[in-house]
Amino acid sequence: MNNNELWNSLLAQMQLHISRANFATWFQNTEVSTKENEKLVISVPNAFSKEWLSNKYYKVMLKIIHDMDNSIRELEFIINPKSSKTLTIKENVEQEKINIEQLKFDEFKVNKDTNLNPKYTFENFIVGSFNDLAYAAGSAVSENPGHIYNPLFIYGGVGLGKTHLIQAIGNKIANSSKKRVKYVSSEKFISNIVTAIRSNSMESFKASLSPIDVLIVDDVQFFSGKNKSQQEFFHIFNSLYEKNKQIILSSDKQPNAIPELEERLKSRFGGGMIIDVNLPEYETRLAILRAKLQEKNIALPEDVLEYVAVNVKKNIRELEGALNSLIVYYRSNNNIPDVENAKKLLKGFVFSPFEVANYKKIIEAVAKFYNLEEKNLFDQTRRKEIVRPRQIAMFLLRKELKYSFPEIARKFGGKDHTTVLYAYKKILQESEENNKLTEELNLIKQRVYSG
Ligand code: ADP
Ligand code: MG
Repeated sequence: MNNNELWNSLLAQMQLHISRANFATWFQNTEVSTKENEKLVISVPNAFSKEWLSNKYYKVMLKIIHDMDNSIRELEFIINPKSSKTLTIKENVEQEKINIEQLKFDEFKVNKDTNLNPKYTFENFIVGSFNDLAYAAGSAVSENPGHIYNPLFIYGGVGLGKTHLIQAIGNKIANSSKKRVKYVSSEKFISNIVTAIRSNSMESFKASLSPIDVLIVDDVQFFSGKNKSQQEFFHIFNSLYEKNKQIILSSDKQPNAIPELEERLKSRFGGGMIIDVNLPEYETRLAILRAKLQEKNIALPEDVLEYVAVNVKKNIRELEGALNSLIVYYRSNNNIPDVENAKKLLKGFVFSPFEVANYKKIIEAVAKFYNLEEKNLFDQTRRKEIVRPRQIAMFLLRKELKYSFPEIARKFGGKDHTTVLYAYKKILQESEENNKLTEELNLIKQRVYSG
């Protein structure tokens, strides 16, 4: 077997081990560079692939290769962004024009029983260091619902794949077992509860939920402040939980950070596994774009993809939106977009911190995150629920906008600037020691920059 055959055979076998999206993400544009004695040197397109292949797939790859050629005992990955395959993609762009004609924006139908959208699957869910723990927990739950992580609580900012992941878990369970799965958004759930209370039909509403084996509730932060609904949810939760039924929840923040949520619900929500999803890094964004294009069977020039990955960094939803704009342009003009076109087309997506962060947005985002009214932040009070968010607002004004301490003091009703300095130092120090606070700050910043 020559090196190429060896590699193609490995690729074929790896495809059996991992999902299509992940295969496209990690193995696209890889090839054997050389063989040096016992070592096979593989060229990969970027540092991201290198890290991932050497950390996650090393063992299984080596085993497959060694089984085919037992003289090989070691793999090495080198970065070679201009591998021949990357170039052929560009050349293929012309040919892809034909494929684009066949492009369909599939309208998937939501399943009436489960309320799940079949477009959300593990197969098309891309995994990177920003979400690998959430993915691992999700797939473990899908293999063994009700018995390992219960509830599974996934949290993170908007557009980072929470809904995709929790629906993928549901679809997997629904398709591979007889279990009854139900997905519901919190808004819908709350409105069902409110209706049941009003019409005195709580018992029959609960009875309708009792045959469910897997209950998925999206965006539970919306239960904040809804006391009656929280009470009912608590009972529904308990009765399913006691029967070992799987509960899967998502939220934009962790249970403890959800304001105006009963303690007993916080503790139920956090009683299983809590995992966050983060923002993907540049290399991951590029990999996501490549995988999404491959799924659609379209190629775009590499420099255009790089332009998108550099500039669209808010979340995966935006990344998809940007890509779709390019595809629509491509389809309607029958013209491959270049970087200049992309610049024009993607104006709305391009993320520029200096343009979007401002005083108003910081105050708004902090207040919203802690479920306060903006004016509460300026109340002359020492109440903990206010003091803490106020310190965070002060911290962000300094850190993100470089406001001076006296300037911030003036904004907060002429406080002594040493109060502001104290707040800044306190939050800074705590965020260095405390991951939870760092996460909270990141979630708030994400809102500031996405608003
Ligand atoms: P959230 O619920 O966190 O706001 P969504 O699950 O709605 O985010 O994701 C936004 C969009 O990005 C969806 O179209 C989803 O399919 C896509 N997406 C998010 N994460 C991934 C991923 N890891 N792999 C592939 N697509 C993703
Ligand atoms: Mg969602």
